[in-house]
Amino acid sequence: MTRIVAANKDSISEAAAMLRDGKIVVLPTETVYGLGANALDSEAVAKIFEAKNRPNFNPLIVHVMDKDSASALVEMNEEAHKIADTFWPGALTLILPRKENTGVSDLVTAGLSTLAVRVPSHKVMREVIKQAGVPIAAPSANNSGEPSATTPAHAAQSLGDGVSYVLAAGACDVGLESTVLDLSGDIPIILRPGVVTLEDIKNYLENVEIDASTKDKPKSPGQLLKHYAPNIPVRLNAVDVKEGEALLAFGSIKFMGLKSGGPVKDMPTSAFRNLSENADLNEAAKNLFMMLRDLDKPEHKAIAVMNIPDEEIGVAMNERLARAAQK
Ligand code: AMP
Ligand code: MG
Repeated sequence: MTRIVAANKDSISEAAAMLRDGKIVVLPTETVYGLGANALDSEAVAKIFEAKNRPNFNPLIVHVMDKDSASALVEMNEEAHKIADTFWPGALTLILPRKENTGVSDLVTAGLSTLAVRVPSHKVMREVIKQAGVPIAAPSANNSGEPSATTPAHAAQSLGDGVSYVLAAGACDVGLESTVLDLSGDIPIILRPGVVTLEDIKNYLENVEIDASTKDKPKSPGQLLKHYAPNIPVRLNAVDVKEGEALLAFGSIKFMGLKSGGPVKDMPTSAFRNLSENADLNEAAKNLFMMLRDLDKPEHKAIAVMNIPDEEIGVAMNERLARAAQK
């Protein structure tokens, strides 16, 4: 049985105690819900991989309170300090060379010499980390390969009996996973786009590049081609809705029609969601995974998704959707 418990003083302390005790707990963050474990405890970290059915070559992000706690685990160069001072706490993960003898489990890094670190801004998550007193490894709280869970119910539904405790704090603000910026190589590379965009980072690092393979060939171990995927097919850049399809709209549906004739507004409400009627990209990002899960029903042949502008957080949404649509 999974307990879904609203975050308050008592439940936060309980979650922190469970983490110290080697258990895994679903935690709210500003990006997506995380499945957390004590990063120093290999047995606890192994439970994350098992509960998610996550391949063991896909490393985890470690969540800490502040830049000082991060620099205890990784070698922070000048660029890392600048980026951390600017974007932390927030939805940006840094890949840096890991320090030796920190106690971080080798399972976390999947044997790599680098470690992914992030300082989250979510108040509940921060309080949990503080009370647990250890770095928290936490990937998204869902079965590997599925859209990330952005609500407590979706996390519980996706992980089933694999998890016993969900600390609930409503829908996540950002709704997409953190931007992953690799500062361990010759040039800074964005391995995963997110709400902190290439343009944002360019204001501080001139030579940063976005990894072209975020679009097609994966480079980072976790950038598996098919990912974030519902059980039914996803069809992108839809300009109409085919027989039996559900529709994930963005903005106005005035010019969208059903292939079989008739307007989209006649579709059953169970087959229709709009990411943002006002075409607001941040609102759409917040809704993306939640609505993909809502429409992921066996009675639909596929999910037709309208075009999303490739700008600001739309870049990250399109990267996730391209993977969701992979066959
Ligand atoms: P998730 O935990 O599901 O949000 O995924 C974490 C992402 O960070 C995956 O894409 C991982 O491959 C990536 N990642 C974590 N650690 C590293 C690392 N040391 N080097 C490169 N990518 C990493
Ligand atoms: Mg994930």
